[in-house]
Amino acid sequence: MRLKRLELFGFKSFADRTVIDFGQTTLTGIVGPNGCGKSNVVDAVRWVLGETRPTSMRGSGMTDVIFKGSASRPGMGTAEVTMILDNDAGVLEERGPEIAISRRLYASGEGEYLIDGQRVRLKDVKDLLFDTGLGSRGYSVLEQGRIDAVLSANPAQRRAIFEEAAGISRYRQRRHETELRLKRCEQDVERLDDLMGELRSRVRSLKIQATKAEKYVTAKAEWTEGRTRLLSHRLLAAEGTLEVLKPAIADLEGGVATLRERRSECEAGIEGREAERSGVVAELGTVSAEVAQISGDLRALEERKSQLAMRIASWTASTDEETERAAALGQQFEERQEELARITNEVDALRERTRVAAERASSLTSQGRELGKTYRQLRAEVEGQNERVLDSLHQRTASENKSVHLREAIPPMTERLARVTERFESSEGQVGEVSARLEAAHGALESAASVREGADVALERVRGDLGAGREQLEASRAQ
Ligand code: ATP
Ligand code: MG
Repeated sequence: MRLKRLELFGFKSFADRTVIDFGQTTLTGIVGPNGCGKSNVVDAVRWVLGETRPTSMRGSGMTDVIFKGSASRPGMGTAEVTMILDNDAGVLEERGPEIAISRRLYASGEGEYLIDGQRVRLKDVKDLLFDTGLGSRGYSVLEQGRIDAVLSANPAQRRAIFEEAAGISRYRQRRHETELRLKRCEQDVERLDDLMGELRSRVRSLKIQATKAEKYVTAKAEWTEGRTRLLSHRLLAAEGTLEVLKPAIADLEGGVATLRERRSECEAGIEGREAERSGVVAELGTVSAEVAQISGDLRALEERKSQLAMRIASWTASTDEETERAAALGQQFEERQEELARITNEVDALRERTRVAAERASSLTSQGRELGKTYRQLRAEVEGQNERVLDSLHQRTASENKSVHLREAIPPMTERLARVTERFESSEGQVGEVSARLEAAHGALESAASVREGADVALERVRGDLGAGREQLEASRAQ
């Protein structure tokens, strides 16, 4: 089997669809500077063969294999690699001359495998390539650094590589699978043995049950037979009895028919009675309502009666009271009559007295008039007296003022007298003059004092007159 062609699209650095055609040549070399993408071709081969480890793709996640863009163009949403194998030699008998294995991965993380354009599982891809030396971890892909790993591998690992190359792995795998199936079969057999044991014990118990059931069936048949015999015997006897009873039954049936007729008659009668009864019931209802009404009225009347009785009792009591009061009033009336007669006498006497009083009143009125005149005269006199008193008071005040002035003038006069006395010796004439003036001053003082005394006496007299006039006036008013 040969690798014929490799098509890359959106895988790692291969943004454009790239086809690497290995043609019929035995050897193909890819040459380029560091980082140009040589190892990406090997990664693409291992990826399309089902590599699942992102680290072996030199990334942190599997979607890292999708072209993530460069300075000149944006990233892509899908990575796709297709490997075309030449099957001309018919290594894979069931396939055609060319086998196309494809793998796609979307940015969402979902992916798919295709064989000749048909969607398949990864397992189908692995099964197809089993023992062809192809595989993501097969000896057919020895990338950078792996040759060293193969050379330094331990004998067991190296043997695995050789076995795969020799095509033994397939049989080894099949043997392993057969062994697994055999083991499962042995387990099934063991389970079947267990089941058989269980079934055997159940068969034993079922056999016992079957024996019992057989016995039961036999007994039941015997019982059924005996019972049938008994019942047919009874039936015969009953048939005999029936024959004997038939005439009586016929009679009874006749009686039943008669009774039925009577019953229907009775039912008709009952219906009539029912109608009557319902009428009576309705009437009873009305009567009951009326009775209730009348009872209510009766109760109200009873109540009213008792109220009236109470009122009559109270009225009787008050009538007695009123009678008593009437008697008392009669007595009082008589007393009042007597009193009236007495009062009438008194009134007559009073009338007489009134007449006398009226006469007296008229005389008093004329007296009053006289007294009023006298009063007015007295009043005029009093007013004159008052004026005079006022004049006297004025005079007294003036005299007092004068006396004060004179008293105030005494000390300077005395001083002057002293001075004059001093000057007496020197001025004889002046002494006489001063003495005369002093005497005159004393005389004025004395006359002022006598005027004041006279005024006081007059004032007292006027006051006495005024009091007497007032008393006289009051007395005349009281009369
Ligand atoms: P060396 O000679 O050093 O081994 P190389 O030729 O094997 O180099 P690769 O390792 O195959 O080169 O390629 C590395 C290049 O691939 C880097 O330039 C890297 O930028 C580019 N590359 C890897 N993954 C992606 C990706 N997802 N999208 C775009 N470019 C990628
Ligand atoms: Mg490299």
